[in-house]
Amino acid sequence: MQLTDTHCHLYWNKFDEDREAVIQRAIEVGVKRMLVPGTTIETSKQSIELAEKYEQVYAAVGIHPTDAETFAEKDVDQLYKLAEHEKVAAIGEVGLDYYWVKEPEKQKHQRNVLSSQVQMAEVLNKPLVIHLREVNDATEGPVFDDFLDLIAPWLEKWTQRKHPLGLLPGVLHSFNGDPTLAAKAIQLGFHLGVTGPVTYPKNENHREMIKNLPLNHLLIETDSPFLSPVPQRGKRNEPAYVVHIADKIAEIHSKSPAEIAEITTANAARLFAWGD
Ligand SMILES: [Zn+2]
Repeated sequence: MQLTDTHCHLYWNKFDEDREAVIQRAIEVGVKRMLVPGTTIETSKQSIELAEKYEQVYAAVGIHPTDAETFAEKDVDQLYKLAEHEKVAAIGEVGLDYYWVKEPEKQKHQRNVLSSQVQMAEVLNKPLVIHLREVNDATEGPVFDDFLDLIAPWLEKWTQRKHPLGLLPGVLHSFNGDPTLAAKAIQLGFHLGVTGPVTYPKNENHREMIKNLPLNHLLIETDSPFLSPVPQRGKRNEPAYVVHIADKIAEIHSKSPAEIAEITTANAARLFAWGD
């Protein structure tokens, strides 16, 4: 079985004691590749360091919306330099977060920081790893609306100019939107990332939404060290647990876990230009 964890923050201090063992455990259960997204300049550098050290690890670089305040225009040059690295597979994680950031001025700043990074994705031809979190974790609202407004002109331009991002713009990481938004995102070419909450007993609506999604647009992600899936819920998450997410999607879609692993690994390879 060959799995891919398209979202794990392996540089996090919760892995300082046993990072090597965590990565080895993932490889042992069949994780072929792990994508580590940065959230600041500093953690983007750390992602690249891990990608240089481990064959199975790839990096994404970007400024997370909750870190947007740390972003100064002068950082753009540095981000471009980091993003040109051969093991940087994507720009991320970037996006909008009105759950933690409520002031309209700061939300506007998030949109500007996101726009700069969408521009970078275009120039470097690397897909986007997008974080979207609504006020009160709602499944629809201003975050999704603002994101769709912001990305629409880019997608239109990319499609017209036959830029590769027009077909494969990126992934909406840990997607928790409603079925209408899911359909919209897929129509726009986005992949949707499925994380641990798909295994939580109360999330029946979320599972129902995933049941109706085409498998060729799904990615599986741990978001380690956060969002541990059942049966590891409550503990630190790690890439090896991506297997529990594959199991759950297999159950929902009446497939075998091996089929889900194969499909989602192929999806990730296509999106992030990993060849096979
Ligand atoms: Zn993340």
